[in-house]
Amino acid sequence: MRLLTAIDGEEQSHFRLCEFENGDGLAMVHASTLASLERVRRDLAAWARRDVWVIVTDALRTDADLERLAARLGWIDEGGAVSRDSKHLARHGGIAVDLVAVVAGTRERIPQRILGEICRRHFDWVKDSYRDGHVHADNRHRGREPAR
Ligand SMILES: [Zn+2]
Repeated sequence: MRLLTAIDGEEQSHFRLCEFENGDGLAMVHASTLASLERVRRDLAAWARRDVWVIVTDALRTDADLERLAARLGWIDEGGAVSRDSKHLARHGGIAVDLVAVVAGTRERIPQRILGEICRRHFDWVKDSYRDGHVHADNRHRGREPAR
């Protein structure tokens, strides 16, 4: 299912609901997250002067997903990488995404630093220091505001 949102008065639809699914096929995406992603895609395309694909690698997580992840990477309070209050959890309302971006066609990876910089313009909170090159972005503040 294609997701549609308006950015500065223009309808944009570059993301599908299935991109936000967890391993069990559950999906949740906050309206502000979709709008932020469309703005990131637009700004990356301007930066690259080419069409860019923004690829959501991880979005919604259940408690069971988080437990599995923590079994691999460890909880932050035990020196690992997984937050017990992960913004990916459904209780936060679909506000978090992990993403990478590539130039359409060539699939050349957009550098993590550039992706992180542009995500900071459009998301409330961004982490771009992961070794595998992905960027985490979430709308922890605007996700709490009532939908407009
Ligand atoms: Zn994340």
